[in-house]
Amino acid sequence: MRRQEELEPKRQGPKRQGQDGQPLLSSSAITALVAEARASSPREACGVLIEREGALVALPRGRGQRAAFEIDARDLLPEALDGSLRGIWHTHPEGPAVLSPADAEGLWEEALALVIGLRPLGALLVHWHGGVGRVLQRWGPDDLAQS
Ligand SMILES: [Zn+2]
Repeated sequence: MRRQEELEPKRQGPKRQGQDGQPLLSSSAITALVAEARASSPREACGVLIEREGALVALPRGRGQRAAFEIDARDLLPEALDGSLRGIWHTHPEGPAVLSPADAEGLWEEALALVIGLRPLGALLVHWHGGVGRVLQRWGPDDLAQS
């Protein structure tokens, strides 16, 4: 697992937020996470999404396994206590960027979920609300080709 600083996006000017005020991920952050997904393969990589100055920051947490990951309550506690916790991210080294039924089961109301898939290359940021995931951001192979 890389050090925390390497997964944080560089400062990029004004706040990046969706139309409904949900924080979004910068292109440098998604590029770093794709690199992390590749470095961790064939295990999944995982962590927390926190909100910092209106933007999403991904930090490594928990334990990735092959075709699974585990983030337990203790992994979430620091950011839950300081109020910055917004959701979780993880990778699919051998699959696409979609939320599996097991992924959805692990989410809580109003959580954000980011999935990075390597086959094919892509990423998806979803806002979980009322048992439904609404897509906030989506990246395809062309968006991530240079990463
Ligand atoms: Zn998954």
